Amino acid sequence: MLRKNYIMAPGPTPVPIDILLAGAKETIHHRTPQFLEIIEKTLEEAKYLFQTSNRVYVFVSSGTGAMEAAVTNLVNPGEKAIVVVSGKFGERWKEICQAFGIDVVEIALEWGEAVTPEQIEKAMKENPDAKVIFTTHSETSTGTVMDLKAIAELTRNTDRVLVTDEVSGLLAEPLKMDEWGVDVVVSGSQKGIMMPPGLGFITLSKKAWALVEQNKCPKYYYDLRYYDKNYPDNPWTPAVNMIYMLNQSVKMLKEEGIENIWNRHRVLGEATRAAVKALGLELFSKRPGNVCTAVTVPAGVDGKKITKIMRDKYGVTIAGGQEHLANKIFRIAHLGYVSLFDSITAISALEFTLHELGYPVKFGEGVKAAMEIFHREGVAG
Ligand code: PMP
Repeated sequence: MLRKNYIMAPGPTPVPIDILLAGAKETIHHRTPQFLEIIEKTLEEAKYLFQTSNRVYVFVSSGTGAMEAAVTNLVNPGEKAIVVVSGKFGERWKEICQAFGIDVVEIALEWGEAVTPEQIEKAMKENPDAKVIFTTHSETSTGTVMDLKAIAELTRNTDRVLVTDEVSGLLAEPLKMDEWGVDVVVSGSQKGIMMPPGLGFITLSKKAWALVEQNKCPKYYYDLRYYDKNYPDNPWTPAVNMIYMLNQSVKMLKEEGIENIWNRHRVLGEATRAAVKALGLELFSKRPGNVCTAVTVPAGVDGKKITKIMRDKYGVTIAGGQEHLANKIFRIAHLGYVSLFDSITAISALEFTLHELGYPVKFGEGVKAAMEIFHREGVAG
């Protein structure tokens, strides 16, 4: 059978042709007035994605680079920082902090759990000297979303700086950076922004900038003072053609509207969760989000084979589990440039795959549940 490819993984995500084509233009010199005009306009418009009036700085890096920028600009070696670890990406915060000699106060949770405001409050009380708190809004490794708004309420009128990893969460989960009082947001281009991998982003509140100004952690490429001094020009060579793409992406996202984008992800998430439940499968996360749906591999089924058959036989790339969750869960994303029919395709491929692996499936049951959600939500039928 002819095979088409569908990326249904939580990054990289599908890229619309108009964004790819926006990059297919002559590379101009980055210090020309022509390019400066483009980058200035693009970064100005990009504030909308974060719902902030703070400057957005862009790196030639993946999301991890932006995470490293947050750590090395906010905390000094030997200082304490509170880090929430409830999955692979919380672990990454911890590893970056440790690489720079930061004293990590870990809020360690079971993977699949979401941190509660009470847990943050307790850590803040016990560690008055820990000024920075690192969190992961959407923990992609477990398909979990935390209550960022409630946590920001705890930090907003204090001297604590709340940092959140929005590498996968941006645009898929509601975020009102300024209104909620989130201090630092980091993200990457290859997820909700619908671009290929290659750009990292960071934006910071005034409160966070006060820490940046006096920070002494060793760094060079990521020293935000250079970015701010030169803004909107980049201190180094920016990814010129990716800035063209970002310009197009922001244009398309603004046209769609932030509320509609959040709603799109919510509906796709609900439909996917309804589908897997209808197939008798269990959600892995205790607080599932709208980036990807993490599903527990049912007993008797080889988890490795699910992702392999879906990709190699049906062209549908989903993600498996990471670290100790390898072969125990699989993750179907609904992030970025994904339509209801992409989700329906992924669910039908899952039905075929599970059936082939001996799991009892009545064809169409998952798809039916998803279609019913799309109908109920007024996006189809
Ligand atoms: N944080 C989260 C929540 C992520 O989903 C990812 C990527 N999957 C990262 C950080 C790391 O980003 P990158 O792979 O772009 O460095």
